[in-house]
Parts: sequence; C-alpha cells; structure tokens
Amino acid sequence: MADSFTTEVKNEMAHSGNKNRCCATAEITGFIRSCGAVTLAGKGGVGLKLTTGNAAVARRYKTLIESGFGVRVRLMVGEAAARRTHVYELSVPPGSAADVLLASTGVISVVGGKREMKTGLGESVMKKKCCRKACLKGLFLGAGIICDPEKGYNLEFVFASEATAVAARRLLNSFTDMHARLRQRRGNHVVYLKNAEQIKDVLTLMGAHARLLRFENVRMVRDMKGRANRLNNCDAANMEKALGASERQLAAIRAIEAADGLDALPGELIDTALTRIFHPEASLAEIGQLLNPPIGKAAVGARFKRIAEYAEATEQA
Ligand SMILES: [Zn+2]
Repeated sequence: MADSFTTEVKNEMAHSGNKNRCCATAEITGFIRSCGAVTLAGKGGVGLKLTTGNAAVARRYKTLIESGFGVRVRLMVGEAAARRTHVYELSVPPGSAADVLLASTGVISVVGGKREMKTGLGESVMKKKCCRKACLKGLFLGAGIICDPEKGYNLEFVFASEATAVAARRLLNSFTDMHARLRQRRGNHVVYLKNAEQIKDVLTLMGAHARLLRFENVRMVRDMKGRANRLNNCDAANMEKALGASERQLAAIRAIEAADGLDALPGELIDTALTRIFHPEASLAEIGQLLNPPIGKAAVGARFKRIAEYAEATEQA
C-alpha cells in the first residue's frame, strides 16, 4: 500500500499545468523512464506501455501524450490482487506516432532507418531549467515515494534500471544544494533524499505547493516536540510507556537517521526500518510479510531489538 502522503502529493501534481511544449516532452520523458516499457510488435515495430497505481496520474499522461503527439492512448484498469488496489495501464500501439513519441523522448534513436534503444535521460531534458523541473515531475509521478513528514523525512525514486537511476540522480543534483544519493534495494536502484530542506526544495521544484505547506507545518511541530522531549528527559520512563511499540521503533529509526543515517545499518535492518516508516500501523507479522524474503514475527521483533540497540549506542556515543 502506498503511503497516503505520496498519493496526496501525486494527486496535487497530476492536476497542475505545463507552460511550455518543451516541458511537456521533458515530463513525458521522465514518466516513460520511470514506469514505461517498450513493447515489440512484428516487423520491428515498437509501442509503449506505462503502468501506474494512481488514476489521476494515468489520466494526466493519457492527455499529455495524446495532445502532444497526436496518438490515441489506450487506458486499461486492472486489479493488483494482493494489494486490493488498482493498476492503470496506458498503451501506445506500434506505428509512426509511437516512433515519433519514443524518438522525441530519447527512448529510441533512429539511425539510417534502424531503431536503436537508448538508456538514461537524453541531453535534451538537461538543457533548460524549466525542462529539468518538468522531467523531475515525470520521474516522481512514475517512481516517486515520499514519506509522511509526521513519520520521517524520506523522498525516493525507485527505478528498475540503473542507467535511469544514475541519470535521475544527476538531474536532481543539477539543482542548487541538492545531494541525492543512490543505492540498491531488492534489485532496484533507489535515488533518495533524507534531508528535510532538500525534500522541501524538491516539492517546490515539482510544484507541489499545498503539500509543501503541510510538510513545513509538520516539520515545525516535530522540531518543537523534539525540543520538548529533550527537556523532559527525566520523564523518559513515563514516555516509554505512553509510546506504542511502533512509535518506539520509529523513534529509534529517527535517532539513527539523525545521527549516522540509516545507511549505517546492515541491509536487512534498513529494509525493516523503511518498511516500518511506510507502514507505521502494521503489526510485526505484517511487517514480516512485507519484507523480501518474508520473515516471521519473532525475527522481525529481533530486528527491531537490534535497531533499538543501535539507536541507544548512537545516543551514548
Ligand atoms: Zn521546458
């Protein structure tokens, strides 16, 4: 299940406009790179399939691609059985319009009548700032996740392709004071930010202004609470009782995040911590099922114990 703050941000962005034609192409490029797949037809024809879990996002790209490239885009709705959610699939059939779309977005290049597949993001999206912003928006709508600021600061783009991840990180870090990092998780390539200021800047760049305000408000309250908690350290025993198990785990995760960053943890603990951040209400057994490979409730408990020990050690250091 996607974090609801992610859905809110995506819904807001899906309804915002693009000023320039150049930006529309750059945005479509980002979206194709993050959730698209080239489909092959007979006689070397190529089409395109795009998959998203968000209805507003699917409608946005159906309209953008249809109006920008004069091609009919088919929208199909499927059921993602395990998660009780919908999957929206956009498909562009092979043909000359699909060729123009794929060539304009740098997914293929046509040399001497022969198509060649390209990876990464083409230089055309990097040239102008307006287009870099638009491309970032496309990448986020296709592959972005943002954690609810009440639970932690984390914004990430999850890509199957390493070339896309490298290019997305380069695009992101082309903006002032942005220091996105890259790591692998369960076979995916994740570009991520954990700094509240930088996450705020990304929301601004992508035009998610209403969510930006909410992010700021929550951040202020969290900062104040943090200060109050430090003042009340003598009441630690009472606080401990008041906080639920999940809250305690999240507090430990946050402490590690603030001190050394979650990357300091062994891989299996990072996965467990991130799963907790994205599923604050989940039981230990549910967390275990969400992990890859799945593990039992007791094993999850043991991992949170190690996370707590680690947090304690960083606090004492
Ligand atoms: Zn532009």
